Amino acid sequence: MTKPKKQQNLRIIPLGGLGEVGRNMMLLEYGREILIIDMGFRLPEEDMPGVDYIIPDISYLKEKEEKILGVVITHGHYDHIGAIPYLIKKIGPVPIFTASLTKGIILKRQKDFPDQPRLEINKVKDGSKIKVGPFKIEFFRMNHNIPGTLGLFIETPIGNILDTSDFKFDPAPINDLPTNFKKLRNFSRRKILILMSDSTGAEEEGHSLSEKEILENIKEIFKEAEGRIIAATFASLINRIQQIIRLSEKFERKIAIEGYSMQTNVEIAKNLGYIKFKKKGAVIRTRYIENYPDSKITILCTGAQGEGSAALMRIANREHPFIRLKKGDTVILSSSVIPGNERTVQILKDDILRQGAKVFHYRMMDIHAGGHAQKEELEKMIKIMEPKFFLPIHGQYSMLVSHGEIAKKAGLAEKNVIVAENGQVINLTQNKIFIEKKEVPSDYVMVDGLGIGDVGEIVLRDRKMLARDGMFVIVAVIDRQTGKVKGSPDIISRGFVYLRESKTLLKETRKKVINIVNKAVGSGKAVNWSYVKNEIRNKIGQFLYSKTQRRPMILPVVIEV
Ligand SMILES: [Zn+2]
Repeated sequence: MTKPKKQQNLRIIPLGGLGEVGRNMMLLEYGREILIIDMGFRLPEEDMPGVDYIIPDISYLKEKEEKILGVVITHGHYDHIGAIPYLIKKIGPVPIFTASLTKGIILKRQKDFPDQPRLEINKVKDGSKIKVGPFKIEFFRMNHNIPGTLGLFIETPIGNILDTSDFKFDPAPINDLPTNFKKLRNFSRRKILILMSDSTGAEEEGHSLSEKEILENIKEIFKEAEGRIIAATFASLINRIQQIIRLSEKFERKIAIEGYSMQTNVEIAKNLGYIKFKKKGAVIRTRYIENYPDSKITILCTGAQGEGSAALMRIANREHPFIRLKKGDTVILSSSVIPGNERTVQILKDDILRQGAKVFHYRMMDIHAGGHAQKEELEKMIKIMEPKFFLPIHGQYSMLVSHGEIAKKAGLAEKNVIVAENGQVINLTQNKIFIEKKEVPSDYVMVDGLGIGDVGEIVLRDRKMLARDGMFVIVAVIDRQTGKVKGSPDIISRGFVYLRESKTLLKETRKKVINIVNKAVGSGKAVNWSYVKNEIRNKIGQFLYSKTQRRPMILPVVIEV
């Protein structure tokens, strides 16, 4: 008789997405072997100037590369795939498993990054089963607002995990089948040890709108619009794009597609049959929009979040080569605002209104993403699955807490509901769940242009300081012979005070600099120049603050001649 192998604990390690919206990445670790679920990024907050994206910290995976079995990607949204080009190089060649549309989006994006290794992406679909190490994964179709969204039923040596991915229950989806409840119940019959469910909509009452209802809402806007329609959304909201195309065709509008990511995503989704056009010739180049009456034009573009370089922003800022806003235009901002972007979107809306266009935003009508299950659906999911343990995933902390409350209301014992955050390690056996004392690193890794992780706290602090109070450069030339300042120090300043109107302030500053240097250099002994520079920085800093209540960044330059 062989002795049964000693069972180990399963460790669930969220590196991103728990306590924030975006940057989803989760590890399942059993007996040292690791499966990765999703590799997303998130957009920076308003207090992170110049940062493009934030990606997960994968230092936990260092020296464990050999143990990584593969990466499962649930769907093609950037908060689930966006970090792949930055991270995959580091973890080495591992197989990726995902749906065909997601594969298309990932591969297309890889082309924007130089020096990428060839990815091994295996296509899976509803019903596919794979075995990687100790994990047996069965993929199943979920409704969301992008086709090809897959939930995961994972058999592990200690029990079954069900990961919903981003989802909603949709009785009337677009280009997709309604939720397959029978299949979900079958999983439940096989016993769910832990349910990990999408919390993005956990603070919203009731049921999410079906894609059909959203279509009806946007249709009302199309009916009313007299001039051009400019519809801005995420390039990855494939369903929303399909709705806008369908309505444009119905109302005999030609469609101009603006924004690189929008054009490529439409192309990929069209080639794979996820976006359909009724007629040929529905899409025209933007430069030809003037050839048609305004009432026959739809412009489909990126930029509903007020992203700086996106098409709508360029249109609103009058930087677009062909499109200027005008009275009669109807602008639809069709995506809910990501936390942290509220102010930017507000400014964008005001700018559009000033130029005479009408604006429809999701608060006015339900034209927003609506891709996430709300309270009713979340409770239903928990009741169907009847899991032993529950872990809310994907969302700000308040959303996770709210989702935890829903689980308790649905009958789960308080001790079996775990609200965890990034970096915490959830340790699981057949009968017990707890959070380990020691956390793994889960810091923000900031991507700035093509540089990864080279923008740290200090760079960010400098940028904030420069943005708030500007900079102040002092150039002092010092005579080596006499140890005294030669002539008058030069002052260069940007974003602090307008120099021409601050003559007195500058005069006093120069005088102070001369005094500081002469005093520091003093008796002609060996001079400690970094001390002199520090003195200038501190004393002039205090002086300028006392005069202006501002703290510009002071850069002293001392030259010896
Ligand atoms: Zn999503």
